[in-house]
Order: sequence, then structure tokens, then C-alpha cells
Amino acid sequence: MLFAKKSLGQNFLISPRIVGAIVNAGNVVPGERVIEIGPGKGVLTKALLEAGAHVKAIEKDDRLIPVLAETFKEDIAKGALELVHDDIMEMDLNEVTNSAYKVIANIPYYVTGGIIRDFLSAQNKPSLMVLMVQKEVAARIVARDGKESVLSLSVKAYARPEISMSVSRGNFFPIPNVDSAVIKLSDIRDPFGDRAAEERFFDVVKAGFGQKRKRLAKNLDAVLSKEEVARKFAELRLDENIRAEDVPLDAWIELAR
Ligand code: SAM
Repeated sequence: MLFAKKSLGQNFLISPRIVGAIVNAGNVVPGERVIEIGPGKGVLTKALLEAGAHVKAIEKDDRLIPVLAETFKEDIAKGALELVHDDIMEMDLNEVTNSAYKVIANIPYYVTGGIIRDFLSAQNKPSLMVLMVQKEVAARIVARDGKESVLSLSVKAYARPEISMSVSRGNFFPIPNVDSAVIKLSDIRDPFGDRAAEERFFDVVKAGFGQKRKRLAKNLDAVLSKEEVARKFAELRLDENIRAEDVPLDAWIELAR
């Protein structure tokens, strides 16, 4: 029996009900390409294959590769599963696949932000992402309390986020210190058109949230002139005292333009 590595965020799903719900949330159609990050011992991989997906599973832990290779030798031989021994954060996503695909995974939480950012800004974006994440992170992504953040805006710029379900910690082994939730990012698109506009958007958002207690107008001093800020605020009918967290996505896109 392999001991779980905390450093790799290893908390394995032990609930068939949750595994089934993740596959359902992914609306997997037979023959479809699915990228799974961190297959672990393969519970979700197996369910994805049973739903007819063509899976590319990327696993960093050397110890798990022979286990997965043995468990899935028939699927690998048939070409239904491609097992990749690599670190997702080191991979060039533009080379991961050039066909249409979905990302469906119970990911290691220490790379949640990186995975979401990298896939949403990749040239060949997934059509859908279904991810298990920390419950608090899921709540922040959908801005459940009505307060936007750099994280929520960087997701909403590209996709429509929703929480599919809450998953309590008892559904994993070893039991993690946090509860989880499955988030679904759909309608994935490129709202920017080019890299420069994309970078500009993130510069403006990051500057806007620069100092938490300051007003947005003050924080924007770092990237826009006072006159530009005043003109844009008037145009967008933003109160001069508004804080970054209360500004919706559309207004940020306009501010960055
Ligand atoms: N999918 C399995 C399950 O649901 O039981 C395992 C989930 S576990 C939360 C996360 C998995 O991601 C582990 O198997 C871990 O080894 C793997 N992992 C951690 N860091 C990784 C990385 N940088 N790239 C690829 N896989 C990684």
C-alpha cells in the first residue's frame, strides 16, 4: 500500500457517488477527449473511461505510474487512455492536445490557481472544466458573497463558473483539513482577442485590488492617469468611492480598454 504524499496534495476520492457526480457534471459524450490532472490511483479515470471518454491522464508521482499502467493496461493498449508522467505546471499546454477537449479532475489543491489560469489562457482552451477545489476557493470564484476578487474576475473573464456540489472532507482518504466543492466552468471563450489586451486586463485588475483598504480610483493611479480614471468612472457611472470588490466584470473590461 502506498502512503499518500501530502506535498503532492494526495487525498484520494473514496466515494463512488462523488466520482459519478463529477463525470455527470462533465456531460461526457463517448469518444470525447478528456484531460485528467492527477489520476492518483485511477478512480475517476476508470469512471471517465466507462463513460466512453478518451482520457489523457497526467500524473507527477513516479510511484503511481506503474500502478496506473498495470490497472489500465487494456485501456492503454486500446488507445482509450494515454498516461503521461509529468508535472502539469511544467507542461506547455499548447502541446497537450490540439483537438477539442474537456478538463475533468480532482486536482491537487496547491496548484488550483495555476491550473485554472493556464488552461483558461491557453491558445486551445478546453470547452469545459470540472474541478474539485477547496470549498472556500469555489466560493471565491463564484463570488458567493457578491464580492469580486482577482481570482473571480480572472475566471469570469473567460468562463461561466458555478458550484456543482459541496463535498465534505469525509469523502477522501486521507481526510483533508478542508471541505471541498466541485466547480464547473462552462461557456469558455477568449474575450480579449490578443495577448496585449489580455495582459492589460490583468494589469488593471491587479492594480485595482492593489491595496485592499484603498478606493479603486486611488489604486488605479498605478496604471491610469487621474483624468483617465475620472473620465472612465463617469462613462461607466462608477461611484468615485467604489471599492474594487464591488466592480463587476464588464466594468473592468471597459476600464482596461
Ligand atoms: N484523482 C485521484 C482521486 O480522485 O482519487 C487523485 C486526486 S489527488 C487530490 C491529486 C493527484 O494529483 C495525486 O495523484 C498527485 O500525485 C497528483 N499531482 C500532484 N501534483 C501534480 C502535478 N504538479 N502534476 C500532475 N499531477 C500532480
